[in-house]
Amino acid sequence: MTADPVIDQQHSPAALPATVRASLSPSRAADFKTCPLLYRFRSIDRLPERPSVEQARGTLVHAVLERLFDLPAGGRTPEAAGDLVGPQWDRLVAGQPELAGLFDPADEAGTAGFLRSAAALLEGYFAVEDPRRLEPAERESLISAVVDDELLIRGYLDRLDVAPDGALRVVDYKTGGAPREAFEARALFQLKFYALVLWRTRGVVPRVLRLLYLKDAEVCDYSPDAEELLRFERTVVALWQAIEQATARQDFRPRPSRLCDWCNHQAHCPAFGGTPPPFPQRAAAADPLRDARSRPAAPGADE
Ligand code: SF4
Repeated sequence: MTADPVIDQQHSPAALPATVRASLSPSRAADFKTCPLLYRFRSIDRLPERPSVEQARGTLVHAVLERLFDLPAGGRTPEAAGDLVGPQWDRLVAGQPELAGLFDPADEAGTAGFLRSAAALLEGYFAVEDPRRLEPAERESLISAVVDDELLIRGYLDRLDVAPDGALRVVDYKTGGAPREAFEARALFQLKFYALVLWRTRGVVPRVLRLLYLKDAEVCDYSPDAEELLRFERTVVALWQAIEQATARQDFRPRPSRLCDWCNHQAHCPAFGGTPPPFPQRAAAADPLRDARSRPAAPGADE
């Protein structure tokens, strides 16, 4: 197994090595791992998913935390974060008008309550970190690497901190209200995915993978090592091969779990008495690098 050292952050398809024939984001890989049929619904059928209030809150809080670090260090206070909530929501709605549909325009209390709930999550953030003492190296940064010569893996980091000695800390904000144990394995899978990309592009195994659970104001740290990331790389490649086989056979099975409670597609799922749509013929001829030519899912949109 080999890995090319670097695909730059602004890579274009033309910049990809000719051997690369597919791309995979941590969200889509985790979908397949969680439930192959969920992967199919999202990545092949591309069934629409209505944003939930919880997802919108996550996107908003991620946006506020990203902007917070634009302020001078001394100004990164809870009050300053609270002041960013309204303007960031307006910006998000301007870019994604479907978000406005989450609330009845006549129900000002509904929108105000939503903004207050986002502010409450930010209080959780300040309970576990003091942003005045941090200077992130990167925020909402697209990183990518080629593994096994053929597969581009890529995704958006919430935040990357670099210590004076060069040690890397990957930070991921978790804003969901769902029980943590239902999503922890998925969250760790995503962090290892980022760690693998960083290791392959910078030659450094991140010292810490950090999950910040804002609702509970808790920190979960994990320290990977190179051997573990090597095994993880094999897992990712094997996962991609399994996706390719499932696509060739048009065989994506449901795998019911607690996560079904948060699935948008129960109406199409045989585990819930539904019927999947006909397998799209275009899937066979689909551009396997389609995902490399478009922006992956927005940070914070997948919790
Ligand atoms: S409802 Fe559950 S089993 Fe069905 S597609 Fe969604 S996650 Fe998979």
